[in-house]
Amino acid sequence: MEAFRELCDLLGQADDLRRAADLLEWDQETYMPGGATRARARQVATLRGLAHDHFTSERVGRFLEVLRGEELNPLASDLVRVASRDYARACRIPSRLVQELAAAASRAKDTWQRARQTNDFNLFAPHLERIVDLNIEKAEALGYDVCCYDALLDEFEPGMRTAEVARLFAALKVELVPMVRAITACESPPYAFLHEQYERAGQWEFGMHVLRAVGYDFMRGRQDESAHPFSTTFSISDVRITTRLSEHNVASALFSTLHEAGHALYEQGMDLDLENTPLAEGTSLGMHESQSRLWENQVGRSRPFWVHFYPILQEHFPSQLGAIDLDTFHRAINRVAPSFIRVEADELTYNLHIMLRFELEQLMVERKASVGDLPALWDARMEEYLGVCPPTAAQGILQDIHWALGAIGYFPTYALGNLMSAQVYACARRDLPQLDRCMADGDFADLRTWLRLHIHRHGRRRSAAAILAGLDGGALAAEPWLALMREKYGSLYGIQL
Ligand code: ZN
Repeated sequence: MEAFRELCDLLGQADDLRRAADLLEWDQETYMPGGATRARARQVATLRGLAHDHFTSERVGRFLEVLRGEELNPLASDLVRVASRDYARACRIPSRLVQELAAAASRAKDTWQRARQTNDFNLFAPHLERIVDLNIEKAEALGYDVCCYDALLDEFEPGMRTAEVARLFAALKVELVPMVRAITACESPPYAFLHEQYERAGQWEFGMHVLRAVGYDFMRGRQDESAHPFSTTFSISDVRITTRLSEHNVASALFSTLHEAGHALYEQGMDLDLENTPLAEGTSLGMHESQSRLWENQVGRSRPFWVHFYPILQEHFPSQLGAIDLDTFHRAINRVAPSFIRVEADELTYNLHIMLRFELEQLMVERKASVGDLPALWDARMEEYLGVCPPTAAQGILQDIHWALGAIGYFPTYALGNLMSAQVYACARRDLPQLDRCMADGDFADLRTWLRLHIHRHGRRRSAAAILAGLDGGALAAEPWLALMREKYGSLYGIQL
């Protein structure tokens, strides 16, 4: 099929350009000398621009149109369907708007950093107003059925609707807020030992050991250090992760490593025939996050996992952990405590941080609140959901980079990922009754194979909703996550939840 081969060549070239830009960005975060920032920003912008022009070329459009009318094999037909969706979205947004958003984001990012340092929301406010305006313009260009936020959300979580997220979050909130209150009223488990001095080399070595054990493939990836941990993919055969080592917080590197490994296992687990096509990506940000959260929380904070790994960690840090028993350690890494900062939040309170952001984003893009109203709304909702009020803007509304980067509609995917992780894990436990025993032996092969079979290998060929339906776990719901939390924290804190 000549047209299909030519389309694959064009899409492959666009993909190469984009991945090359990703590689430059990886280098920027890991090894690039600080003085190179400006030149690197230009190089990345050039490559991204070329990738975008290549992808949105008329030839791609023509081939897609021809092929949509043809009888194709299942893989080719999925490729044409997914590429057509991306193509239609990319063409609907005028390039003037793409450039304006990029320019606004670059100015907003600089100002956001200064605003955060000086605790001055007013400095950032005009930039945020501009970003909201441009996002509304983008949503109008993309089009939507019900509300403007739908168009923005759809970029990150294809097929998901605002009303559905609102319904899921409402079901969560009604149980979660009292659950957090009940736990906060209990005595805190001891955890100070997690913050003693832990030598970096030992943390690194232990993290590498865990990565090998969970099956991260070092022949097709590597781990480095960066200020903010992330994972990035240059091809199915080159999926890299980074971690951050903190001398006085042994849990930080450990769980960030497991989190990024979860993302990377998804990317490494894709079928090789998806390589160099738009199908070789996670099907949605929520599904991607479900994989990182599954390894970080469901596996990495479970007792069976530590039955195997705790003695090894103790061997690395005998003076800090030698006298701490497994149960005390397990309770400490699962301590629940309302806090101001999302990225430091525990498993239980994390979703409340996300709900607050989702609600404020909707108010902004639906023009129901002005940017000036946000700080007061933020503080009031923190008080209502978590019972704490941030003392400064830096610890409140200025803490996240997402809005400064121009991304509105991204936040909900974190909580959707948490919900999906519980639903997926419940199905894995159902299909793998020996799972806890295997984990206690340090054997993750069955779980990894199961995830690869049901989720990873499909890339974007199956939507998140189709994957969940295929697992026979029902549509996405709050209940599986809530059930898991009741079971886990009820037993950890010795209370009925
Ligand atoms: Zn993640």
